[in-house]
Amino acid sequence: MPRKSKENPDSLLIFDSHCHLTDFQFAPDLNAVMRRAQQAGVREILTVSMNIPDSKETIELCQKFSGLYCSVGIHPHEADNFRSIDIQMLKDLCIEPQVKAIGETGLDFFREFSTKANQETAFRAQIELAKMMNLPLIIHIRDAAFAAMAILEEHNYFKGILHCFSDGRKLAEWAVEKGFYISFSGNLTFGEKRLVEIARSIPVDRILIETDAPYLIPRTELVVGKRNEPSYIRVTLNYLAEILNLTPKEIATITRDNARRCLQIA
Ligand SMILES: [Zn+2]
Ligand SMILES: [Zn+2]
Repeated sequence: MPRKSKENPDSLLIFDSHCHLTDFQFAPDLNAVMRRAQQAGVREILTVSMNIPDSKETIELCQKFSGLYCSVGIHPHEADNFRSIDIQMLKDLCIEPQVKAIGETGLDFFREFSTKANQETAFRAQIELAKMMNLPLIIHIRDAAFAAMAILEEHNYFKGILHCFSDGRKLAEWAVEKGFYISFSGNLTFGEKRLVEIARSIPVDRILIETDAPYLIPRTELVVGKRNEPSYIRVTLNYLAEILNLTPKEIATITRDNARRCLQIA
């Protein structure tokens, strides 16, 4: 009889659809972080870029670990530094086989670290790039649902993921109808009734899970106050299983299949 491994005892295969492994907070111990992810059953990860140098770095990182994919793009917080020449640079990076998406892009009118006008310009340019490359978008929306919907409608491109979903029902319904996927992070586990109801209302074949690590630690005693990392996705996975009345294994399989379909991973 084969010996049962202590690692990943329930043999889940989990896809973390959004994190930032090139963040400086992972520099001291990335190998250990990746080992813990593996032990927790996280076998595939999309590591998301914030700007041009980071896009190059994420590609290099993907070459070091199996099951690691990346997006290339410019975060709305960095939109003040966006120049139109950046699009050509991002386009050149899309040749790399690990590049599965454009982003993260979108609009963040909550923090407004870049001007609204610059965020919109960078968002529009990245939508057109995604369209040209036939890649999904990784979209960040904060306090900007109507502006983001209007821009996406204008460009008539509805392929990708609304990441770290925390918005209202209206955006969720619109996104599902258009064909987007919706990704829930640790903030779902905060138990906000509105968000739980939205998660219940979305067809299961459109739901993804993510950590957004090193940010957004899920609210559990076990990990509170620490840096977030992909292995903690189990907290969100278990919570989603509970509210959807499915098993963690079913949620892992469904969200992994969804991520692979959305990111066109064969
Ligand atoms: Zn984001
Ligand atoms: Zn992010």
